[in-house]
Amino acid sequence: MKHWLLAAAFMMSASATAATPWQQVKEPVAGTAQSIGGFSNGCIIGAQALPLERDGYQVMRSQQLRYFGHPDLLAFIKRLTTQTSSNGLGTVMIGDMGMPAGGRFATGHASHQSGLDVDIWLQLPSSRWSATQLKNPRAIDLVAGNGKAVVESIWQPQVGQLIKLAAQDSEVTRIFVHPAIKQKLCDTAGTDRTWLRKVRPWFGHRAHMHVRLRCPASSLECEEQAAIPAGDGCGAELASWLEAPKKLPNAKPKDPVIPEPPASCKALLANHFKAK
Ligand SMILES: [Zn+2]
Repeated sequence: MKHWLLAAAFMMSASATAATPWQQVKEPVAGTAQSIGGFSNGCIIGAQALPLERDGYQVMRSQQLRYFGHPDLLAFIKRLTTQTSSNGLGTVMIGDMGMPAGGRFATGHASHQSGLDVDIWLQLPSSRWSATQLKNPRAIDLVAGNGKAVVESIWQPQVGQLIKLAAQDSEVTRIFVHPAIKQKLCDTAGTDRTWLRKVRPWFGHRAHMHVRLRCPASSLECEEQAAIPAGDGCGAELASWLEAPKKLPNAKPKDPVIPEPPASCKALLANHFKAK
C-alpha cells in the first residue's frame, strides 16, 4: 500500500465508527509474541487464536475475528476457566479480545489493541450455548435503570466469585465493571478485600467485565498504565461515581482525539499491505 493510502486509512479511522486498516488483517503477524504500545493505541506481533470451545468456556461472536491475544492472555483465560470449572461456576462466556494484529476496532472499544484485554460476560450459563446463541448472544444488564445498584433479583453470587477469581490472578492489573457492580462486590466481600483494589469502576460494563493484563516482560515496547490507587476502592471514589448524575447511567466520555499509532505498529501495517 502506498504511503498516502496508509495515511488516508488512518484519517478514516479518526472517527470512532469508521473502518480501520486493522480490520483488514485477518491473521496474526508471524513472530515472537510482542505487545506493542498502549492498551488504547497499540498492536501485537505473534498473537494467538483462543480455541473457540473448551470445557470451561465458549467464545461468542467468533465471526467478528476478535478472539486473538498475547499468549499470556490465552494462558490467563485457561487458568481462570480451569478454576471456574473446578468450582462448578458454569460456562465462562468470552467476548471480545483483540483482532489478529491488534489495533483499533471500528466499533465498540478504544482499548483491546495490544492483545492483553478480554471482555468476559457476567453470566455463567449451566448449559452450553448453541452456535446460533453464540453468534448473537443476549447480554444480561445487571444494573438497575437508575445506575445506582445491581438488580438483586438477577445478581448471582457466582458472578462475584468469577470477578474475584480473575482479580486474584497475579497477571491481571485491572478489571473494569460498572460502579454499581463494584459497589455490590464491596458490600459482599467480607474481610478478604485485597482483590477489590483491581476492580475499577467505569462507564458501561453493565453486563461484562473487562480484564486487562500487565505488560509481558519480554514486550519491550508495551506501555504499562499508571499504578492503581492503594486500598479497596470502596470509599469516596466509588461514591463519586454513583452520585455524579452526569456519569450515569451509561454516559460515555466524548470521543477522544485518535492518536497516531506507535511507529512499530505503522511499520507492521505498511508491511502487511505491501505484502498483499
Ligand atoms: Zn473491553
